[in-house]
Amino acid sequence: MHEAIDLELEKKEIRNRYRSLLRSAKYPLTKEEKKVIRKAFNLAIDAHKDQRRKSGEPYIYHPIAVAQIVAKDIGLGPISIACALLHDVVEDSDYTLEDIERLFGEKVARIIDGLTKISGVFDQNVSMQAENFRKMLLTLSDDVRVILIKLSDRLHNMQTLESMAPHKRRKIASETLYIYAPLAHRLGLYSIKTELEDLGLKYTEPEVYEDIEQKLNDSKQERVRYIQQFSGPIRKALNKELLYYTIKGRPKSIYSIRKKTLKQGISFDEVYDKFAIRIIINSSPDQEKSDCWKVYSIITDYYKPNPDRLRDWISTPRANGYESLHTTVMGPKGHWVEVQIRSERMDEVAEVGYAAHWRYKDTGASSNARQRESQLEGWISKIRDLLENPEASAIDFIDDFKLNLFADEVFVFTPNGDLRTLPKGATALDFAFDIHSEVGARCLGAKVNAKLVPLSYQLKSGDQVEILTSGKQKPKEDWMNFVVTAKAKTRIKNALKEEKKWIAEDGKEILIRKLKHLKIQFNEKVLNELHRYFGVQNSQEVFYQVGTGIIDNKRLKAFATDRNGGIYNYLKSRFTRRSGSSLRSVQEPQKDRKGDILVFGDDEEQLEYKLSKCCDPISGDDVFGFLTINEGIKVHRLDCPNAIRLQSNYAYRILKARWVSSDRRDFLAILTIKGIDRAGLVNELTKIISNTMKVNIRSLNISGVDGVFDGNITVVIHDTHHLEQLIERIKRIDGVTDIKRSLKK
Ligand code: MN
Repeated sequence: MHEAIDLELEKKEIRNRYRSLLRSAKYPLTKEEKKVIRKAFNLAIDAHKDQRRKSGEPYIYHPIAVAQIVAKDIGLGPISIACALLHDVVEDSDYTLEDIERLFGEKVARIIDGLTKISGVFDQNVSMQAENFRKMLLTLSDDVRVILIKLSDRLHNMQTLESMAPHKRRKIASETLYIYAPLAHRLGLYSIKTELEDLGLKYTEPEVYEDIEQKLNDSKQERVRYIQQFSGPIRKALNKELLYYTIKGRPKSIYSIRKKTLKQGISFDEVYDKFAIRIIINSSPDQEKSDCWKVYSIITDYYKPNPDRLRDWISTPRANGYESLHTTVMGPKGHWVEVQIRSERMDEVAEVGYAAHWRYKDTGASSNARQRESQLEGWISKIRDLLENPEASAIDFIDDFKLNLFADEVFVFTPNGDLRTLPKGATALDFAFDIHSEVGARCLGAKVNAKLVPLSYQLKSGDQVEILTSGKQKPKEDWMNFVVTAKAKTRIKNALKEEKKWIAEDGKEILIRKLKHLKIQFNEKVLNELHRYFGVQNSQEVFYQVGTGIIDNKRLKAFATDRNGGIYNYLKSRFTRRSGSSLRSVQEPQKDRKGDILVFGDDEEQLEYKLSKCCDPISGDDVFGFLTINEGIKVHRLDCPNAIRLQSNYAYRILKARWVSSDRRDFLAILTIKGIDRAGLVNELTKIISNTMKVNIRSLNISGVDGVFDGNITVVIHDTHHLEQLIERIKRIDGVTDIKRSLKK
């Protein structure tokens, strides 16, 4: 009956752990909240009742522990706690997602679904590309809580990795180092990141880990004594200033010491900053910055700072929210010592990331559950931004996974003998970008082991690489074919984009000049015609293609011919009721059943048209006009089965079309205008009114005396909104000081 006793003991232990979980919530839970958590706990107990972990412990210990990390270390609320308790239920028991939804609602079900899918992906397809990894995280977790719970799950699995088979340990640990630790870092979950890294090292390189751990232990006494010696005078000075503070001497994490020895090729003893002194001050938000600098000045009164090592993340916090003031000073016995200065608030942000921001906004007991929920939403959306952020760093760090996860690394040397680590398959050009993005951009060639090699040369471990640069060199399109590092790819892509912009700017000037030769005045309208005619994506692309010569003189000439005598105009004139003169003065607009009018092009001209039989458009449908050879303009619906084919093959024969209400009648408005007279002003004024704003001028009357002018313009306008737009635009003309609508008729 040993077993019976054990089970009783276990039950008691489970209850204890559960109570401790409830206590670790960051704020007092309401009755409702407790009920949800309790319900999740009961379900998890039932789902896992016959399961045990590899260690022999009841399985339920695991979800409780994960929930505890979620609550205590990350500071998430009751929904996340419940989800953490449920995170393995669907995967490991007969309960389905539908059960979860029925019992806990849609929100919880969605989170659990995300969690189940993520572990599914990891189990089957280990060599998944990192790009996909990022996409997957974002799509599977439209709720970022999925990622946070997954991180907590991973942390607990790492904490209990000992009981796994050795080969599994290695796989899980490397995955942790390559994916989860950087992710935690990115999210600002500093202490989780550090723990993941240390545990990752422990199981990938156990000897190295134990060696450093041992050495840190052996030197502990000495370290403590040194920290006391260092902080003695500082304490006195701070006390004098009546500042409230704590001073901690924190050893660097084992993982970061390891990284340093590798990166700088030095031994444990040579790592001078094995610990940092952290001074945390108790200061109000409006005082904290100046208090931090006060502490800085006190420290530098006693110890000489290294000016190169001042890091001010107080004025400009890091992307992940980290705020702190770092300096490295020359301490007693000639040792450099890193000192971190921050307020209690900043310290909490540093430890648990954005969660702390929102907790600080929380006024504690007075805030109700809904407020807390909305704060959490705010935090979560911030994290989403970080993950979605298309700026390089966010993509870089995920992209790097792809390279590191299952490929080996190569170790190469600079001419000075510095060691650089690159992913296997990296080329000489990757190396250049790794040194510096400018070196990469200007890279002309490379010497490997003193021999000239092509930029696409794949590096081998032990190679010594020298990069040759030239000020005239620029990133090339084909470079993309052989670089593999995210950094090089990003930089090249950006440079090419930049280059394209320049070409387009040149192209624009060339285009204007060439059009002038062809007697075409460059304007918005012509540009639209060009982009339709050449079937390119947008007007920027027109400029670019002119700049590179893809659109050359011959093609521009063809455009001009087509435009003047070609199909475009031919059709337009042939099928316009009153050809020639003003298209605007159509007397009897062609109306559809409901009385709406169809207008074409950017000028919203009324042209004769036929409704196509294939899709039978009616008033209000999204439509476009298509210039046919024999039947004039045929109007199709945008979703017509033929639309795609027509639009892609005959882009230049497509006319924009739009239904407008027939009670939109034109009316006359008189504008009075005043300003400072200058040459070309009237010209510019009329150009803007008729070309840019597409407004017809009925009459224009302007006179100037002694350098000032005034006058009035009568324009034909659709409505007051249209008129306001026109006035706004005219106001921006250089010299115009006053413009308004005249009241007289
Ligand atoms: Mn789990």
